[in-house]
Amino acid sequence: MSKKLISEAYEQLTRHYTRLDPHAETWNLWIKANKSLSETYEVAIGTVLVQNTNWRNVNNAIANLRRANIFSFKKIQKINLKKLEELVKPAGFYTQKALYLKSLSKIFLTYSNRDDLPSRQDLLACKGIGKETADSILVYCFQKPVPIVGTYTRRFFARLHGDVIYLRMKYEDIQQEINKELETNFEVFGRFHALVVVHGQNLCQKNDPKCTQCFLSEYCMYGKNHLNNPKIAQIQIKIVQSPKSKRNTR
Ligand code: SF4
Repeated sequence: MSKKLISEAYEQLTRHYTRLDPHAETWNLWIKANKSLSETYEVAIGTVLVQNTNWRNVNNAIANLRRANIFSFKKIQKINLKKLEELVKPAGFYTQKALYLKSLSKIFLTYSNRDDLPSRQDLLACKGIGKETADSILVYCFQKPVPIVGTYTRRFFARLHGDVIYLRMKYEDIQQEINKELETNFEVFGRFHALVVVHGQNLCQKNDPKCTQCFLSEYCMYGKNHLNNPKIAQIQIKIVQSPKSKRNTR
């Protein structure tokens, strides 16, 4: 395994995906620096709404909120819970997600009059905010350089490195591996996460990775070896058997 497999993959992914399709518009907003307040709001609520669903459903829920003029944390705090549930219904799990949005808006409002920003611990203390969501908020809302680890990352790394350990490795250990190879920069971490998701949707799919069409096949352990190495081929069986992400399917 090359010592610089992650940075090589990042370079190749950046070169190949000149647009972050599908959902280029959403990703462009997420990785944009210097967001307006309403853009930050949209991204923050998006990190919660996208849990266990896809972007189309998230965008429908966001459109509902926009139509109802519930487009600030203050308004989320004020709106009746039942009404909020109705508005976010298209994103699924709407009773939980409405509560999560209330909890998230509380923390954003607490910090709105302060000079500092919520920490990772503050975010993790919010209902429904796990590590991936907290780190997504830190990167995409607050421009903090934190690697984000999701199901797509685990699957991609397992194949890239030819090692199933990535499917169950500690979240922070995978963060450390990314940290070692990529520049410590929020744009790099945010773009890397977006690229891994986009690649996971375009070619490196859960059930049927398109290795023969993949521009990473000369670097990727699974792509190079799965046809003649039974141990490497096993990775795909483990991936298919691995539980669905709690966070999202996008
Ligand atoms: S070669 Fe196959 S397994 Fe490797 S990144 Fe590409 S699609 Fe995924």
